[in-house]
Amino acid sequence: MALVNDHFLKLADNYLFADVAKRVNAFRAIHPGVDVISLGIGDVTRPLCPAVIEAMHRATDEMAHAETFRGYGPEQGYDFLREAILKNDFLPRGVHLDISEIFINDGAKSDTGNIQELIRWDNSIGVTDPIYPVYIDSNVMIGRAGVVEQGRWSNVVYLPCTAENNFVPQLPDRRVDVIYLCYPSNPTGMTLTKDELRKWVNYALRNDTLIFFDAAYEAYIQDGGQRSSDIPHSIYEIRGARKCAIEFHSFSKKAGFTGVRCGYTVVPKDLTAATLTGERIPLNNLWLRRQSTKFNGTSYISQRAAEAVYTPEGKLQTRQTIDYYMQNAHTMLERLRRLGFTIYGGQHAPYLWMKTPGATRSWQFFEEMLYGAHVVCTPGVGFGPSGEGYVRLTAFGSHEQTDEALSRIERWI
Ligand SMILES: *Cc1c(COP(=O)(O)O)cnc(C)c1O
Repeated sequence: MALVNDHFLKLADNYLFADVAKRVNAFRAIHPGVDVISLGIGDVTRPLCPAVIEAMHRATDEMAHAETFRGYGPEQGYDFLREAILKNDFLPRGVHLDISEIFINDGAKSDTGNIQELIRWDNSIGVTDPIYPVYIDSNVMIGRAGVVEQGRWSNVVYLPCTAENNFVPQLPDRRVDVIYLCYPSNPTGMTLTKDELRKWVNYALRNDTLIFFDAAYEAYIQDGGQRSSDIPHSIYEIRGARKCAIEFHSFSKKAGFTGVRCGYTVVPKDLTAATLTGERIPLNNLWLRRQSTKFNGTSYISQRAAEAVYTPEGKLQTRQTIDYYMQNAHTMLERLRRLGFTIYGGQHAPYLWMKTPGATRSWQFFEEMLYGAHVVCTPGVGFGPSGEGYVRLTAFGSHEQTDEALSRIERWI
């Protein structure tokens, strides 16, 4: 008899977006013909930019001829892409990485979920609350999160981010082995300044803590404007981070690659974790070993597509798409605030984090807005207990749909 990994059973029926879809479908069944606009989608909607499309066509043609055909590539990615990443994402910010510290992947979700394989099952983990669910769920599956009691996992240290602390998490009052941070944040759309992030790096260095830093929304940090030069695009802009942090990047939100699949992970050579006897083991070697065993590389076509993001045309065109979404975010902020809503985020991220009026709970507000305005949001409590009383709105729609959704909310209010 094969015994199931029963840690998976703790997760059953707990998937936020499936829950949202179920309730939207229930609404549609009762109100056939009423069209619903979603401000809940976490997926991009604009097409890939021309520079990327041209690169994909060229790469496809190479695959069609024996002389230029590519089979298995290096598990850690092609050098042409890793070099473009070093030159464009890090060097201009004064961060010097070695090419062997960059691991190309098929999107950041895989690696943010898999990275926990490098640490023992009994490490303690800390997460900001609310948070991208993958970090906790991937630890649940291996038994590291413990058991769930009233929406909280027994072995997870929650670091609340709410209006009361202006969404800046406080350092934990005890040592934690591993901390997950995501800035700009999904779901709150808020950022940390360099000074605020430095406190985390210093905490990690003092306590021998490992930081998993998710920079999936780094490209949304706006130039100019209040404190923008203070917001780090990479944790390695902070001195000492090479010794304590792994960083995740993705082309999904940066360049519309949610369907193409490409991202990368940085594992610095200086980064180590301990054995029980105190020996220090470099994690770069372990991750390389892990990837070459379980991963056979990102497709050549996707990597050529990602390389094109860093050409002058690619940079300009992806910037225009980000500006398009951020225009939505700006309009949403303005019009919803005028209606009296309290809103956070949306300045350096495609997400707005809206306080529900009074003591309305997240799911209740979700239902009220669905039935009253025919607009879908994502209940904040789905991202963690501190998300109760908030909902997440996204700026990934078209201008027209976003505009229509706002008009409906105006009429409903
Ligand atoms: C969308 C997202 C990712 C990236 O996912 P991909 O697998 O690269 O498409 C990573 N982290 C967060 C927080 C995200 O919202």
